[in-house]
Amino acid sequence: MTTELTLKLDDIHFNVLSEMVYEENRLSTFLKNRQWPFLEDCNCTPEKMATAGFYWCGSESQPDLVRCFVCLKDFEGWEPNDIPKGEHKRLSPQCPYVKLGKDDQENCTVKEMMELCQKSLINFIEKVFNTQVEQYTNLAKEISNKLEFLGESNMDVSD
Ligand SMILES: [Zn+2]
Repeated sequence: MTTELTLKLDDIHFNVLSEMVYEENRLSTFLKNRQWPFLEDCNCTPEKMATAGFYWCGSESQPDLVRCFVCLKDFEGWEPNDIPKGEHKRLSPQCPYVKLGKDDQENCTVKEMMELCQKSLINFIEKVFNTQVEQYTNLAKEISNKLEFLGESNMDVSD
């Protein structure tokens, strides 16, 4: 067991996350992998997804999995007529990027951008923290169960 705080999650890498602040980097995640199912003639094109704050983080088995770079929520099960911004607002109304209500990230001031970066980092650290608490809680439960089992088997011997 270590007391060191490691900024690492199985599904989010901090280096990747810090690049996703830029809309063009988010857009390239959709274009690079060519697995995103909605490329044209629909509402959720890569361009609209990236503008809405999403980057592609899917796989072959989950080709439509995306994540917001600020609230870090995952979204999937997209329909061609879904409006990316509308879905973001509906499913994550407290997201700082949603609440900022900008049509486009280019309309954000430098200060607003810095605040979004800060909130993204806070959400990331919170996620790491929650994951670690969960892991240690499970570990403690496991040990406690083992001790209980040992206690019971000792009683068996004394009977
Ligand atoms: Zn969000």
